[in-house]
Amino acid sequence: MMKIKNQPRTTAFISAICLAALTYAANILAAGGGAPVVDQNFKIEAGTTLFKNVNVFNGTDNKLYKGINVLVEGTTITKISDDDIAINADHRVIDGQGKTLMPGLIDGHAHVMINNGYGKIESDMDLTDMSYRATIVAERFLMDGFTTVRDMGGPAFGLMRNINSGHLLGPKIFPSGAFVSQTSGHGDFRDRGDVGFSPATSGDIANFEKFGIGAVADGKAEALKATRINLRNGATQIKIMAGGGGSSKYDPIDTVQFSKEETCAIVEAVKDWNTYVGAHVYNDRAMNRLMDCGVKSFEHGFFMNEETMQRISKEGVYVVPQMWGLSPDLAKNPLMPADKIPLVAKLQQQFGDYGKKLIANDVKVVFASDYVGVFADAERARRYEIWWRGESFGDNFEVLKQMTSTAGELMALSGPRNPYAASGKLGVVEVGAAADLILVDGNPLKDLSVIGGNDKWFDADPAYTLIPTIHIVMKDGVIYRDEL
Ligand SMILES: [Zn+2]
Repeated sequence: MMKIKNQPRTTAFISAICLAALTYAANILAAGGGAPVVDQNFKIEAGTTLFKNVNVFNGTDNKLYKGINVLVEGTTITKISDDDIAINADHRVIDGQGKTLMPGLIDGHAHVMINNGYGKIESDMDLTDMSYRATIVAERFLMDGFTTVRDMGGPAFGLMRNINSGHLLGPKIFPSGAFVSQTSGHGDFRDRGDVGFSPATSGDIANFEKFGIGAVADGKAEALKATRINLRNGATQIKIMAGGGGSSKYDPIDTVQFSKEETCAIVEAVKDWNTYVGAHVYNDRAMNRLMDCGVKSFEHGFFMNEETMQRISKEGVYVVPQMWGLSPDLAKNPLMPADKIPLVAKLQQQFGDYGKKLIANDVKVVFASDYVGVFADAERARRYEIWWRGESFGDNFEVLKQMTSTAGELMALSGPRNPYAASGKLGVVEVGAAADLILVDGNPLKDLSVIGGNDKWFDADPAYTLIPTIHIVMKDGVIYRDEL
C-alpha cells in the first residue's frame, strides 16, 4: 500500500461531508499503481484511468453514445473508443456498467465568498468567517459534480490558490475579484449614513469593500484602478455592475450604471489583459451600452426586448441568468426585500417566457446558481435551479449544454488568464479535453434529478446530503468522489 506523505489540511474541517470526501480521496490514494500521489506540496498528481463500458454524454450532442471506453492520462482525456483500449496492468480501471459519463458541471455565476446575509456580512463577520465557510461551499460544489465555478464577485483568490495547490477540496475557480460598481450602484453596500459629499463627511467603507467583495469607483480613473487591482490579483475576468438589482438598497432595478466612458475604459483595460468583462445587467439601455463597449457576458439580463435579444444573439454575447429569478417561489427567498416583491412579481409575469425566447433567438446561455446568502442553503438553491431550468427552458439537453459545453466556451474567453488551460477544454468529453468528468446513474437528458435537480427550494431539507446518483467526480484526472 502506498503511503500518503502529507494529508491535505482539510482534515481540520469538522463537517461530516469533508471527512467522507477525504476518506474517498485517501482510498484512492491508497490504491497504488496508477493511482494519484500526493507530493510534498500537497498537490495530488493524476494517474492513468480507464473508464470501461460507459454511456457518454459529450456535452455537445443530444444523445448518449453507448458502450464507450474513455482513457484519461494525467489531467487530460487521451482516447475515446467503442473498441477496447489497452492499458498497463497497474492502471486504474473503472467498470462503468452502463452508467453515464459526462463532463463535470460548470456554474457560470456563483459567489463562493458571499456566504451569509448582507446584513450579517456588514455587521458581524470578518474575512476569516467568510473564508472558512467558503471552503465548505467549495467542497460541496465539487461533491455535487461541479468541477468549475466562475466566481462573479468576492475575494476568491486565496481559495482558488489553495484548491489548486491541493490544500483544499473544491472546483476550478475562475475569480472576478471585487465587482466594480459606481456610487449608488449594485455594488455600493454602504449604509445610508456612511456616504457624504466630501471625504470629510464620508463615513467608513462597507465590509463588502474592505473584504474585496465589491469596489465602489467613479470616473475613469477610479474605475480603471479598481479593474487593474483585480487583474493584478489574478482575476480571470472582470465583473462590473451596469444596472440596478433586486437585492440591494440604493439602486432601483430600472437604473443604468456606469457612463459609456467609464464602461468602455474598463473594457479596454481588460481587453489589454487579454480577457473579458461580464456585467450585471437587467435592462435594454444598459445592455446596448455594454455591447457598444464590447462586454462579452451578461449576468441575469432578464428584462430585454426582442431587438436587444437579437443583437445579443448576433454579437455572440453570453447570457448567464439565474432562472430562479423568474420562479414564483422567489418571494420565499429570505434575501428578497419585502418592498421589492410586488415589482418583481409584475416583471416575472411580463418576462415569464424569457428562457424559451432566448433559445428561440439562438442566444448562448450559461448556467448560473448565483446564490448569495447563508452558506448552508447554497446547495439546495443550486439543486432547485437545476430543476427549475428544466421547467424554464423545457429542454434538458439545452440545460445540460448550459452546464457543460457552452459554459466551457465562456470559460475559454479568459484566454491566457485561464489558470487551467494546460489540461484542455472544459465542458466536453472529447480527446484533448480536461479530465473533468462525472459518472452518474441514469440519463440526465431524460431526468435532471440524476445530477441533483430538485423541485424543492427553501422547503428542501437544509442538511447537506450527497446526490446519490453521482458515483464518481474527477477533476484534472484525480478522483475526489468515488462511490462505485
Ligand atoms: Zn451574482
